[in-house]
Amino acid sequence: MALTDTHTHIFLEEFDEDREKVIERALQAGVERFFLPNIDLETIERLHRTADAYPDICFPMMGLHPTSVGSDWQRDLDHIRKLFDQRKYIAVGEIGIDLYWDKTFRTEQIAAFETQLRWSLELDLPVAIHTRNAFPEVFESISKIGATALKGIFHSFGGTREELETALAFPNFCLGINGTVTFKNARFAEYLSIAPIERIVLETDAPYLAPAPNRGKRNEPSFLPLVAQKVAEIYGLDKADVGILTNCFTQRFF
Ligand SMILES: [Zn+2]
Repeated sequence: MALTDTHTHIFLEEFDEDREKVIERALQAGVERFFLPNIDLETIERLHRTADAYPDICFPMMGLHPTSVGSDWQRDLDHIRKLFDQRKYIAVGEIGIDLYWDKTFRTEQIAAFETQLRWSLELDLPVAIHTRNAFPEVFESISKIGATALKGIFHSFGGTREELETALAFPNFCLGINGTVTFKNARFAEYLSIAPIERIVLETDAPYLAPAPNRGKRNEPSFLPLVAQKVAEIYGLDKADVGILTNCFTQRFF
């Protein structure tokens, strides 16, 4: 079964001790491709280093994460934008709006998000969107910049039924499902199957959000089959079919 981990931060220092082994374990578990979303200026060098070390399987994205949007956000974006002219990225990410921890930079977060959405149109790249306590704002920005022209992933989806329906009303978007779907309190697991399976992609968000029974541990891509298993149960499908069907979206847009 060939799986793609569409959102994994294996370039972070949490994996400095054993990155090679982590990737080996993932390959053995059937995870064959790794999409690496950037976070901020401090993570760029590590991101590039990891992508360069595994060029056939690790594919970097570039962008500014919403929780890293601060008073210097415009300077940070200028720096990041230039990088798109210097090397190849598979997507603009991760970008978005996060009003869970801190609303101080709400206006700036929205402005940075919309700027990066515009880049994705200009560069013809998909986006990886992080949303926390901010679906109304995120939907509004997408509608404003290009509801049908934009394409990408609502990463770590865990929204309400209504949010799921709104998300899928954007024709070129899919839902990134990770270990949270295996958690006992995952309400969205009850109605996830409203989404066509072709509009689901799998991710770990490693080192965060390890799926059950590894919840609380450092997450790693070799745990992705646990997410695939749960999605297979929800859809009443074979795990192998889930592997194939959840690759449809990435094959089309990435
Ligand atoms: Zn992430």
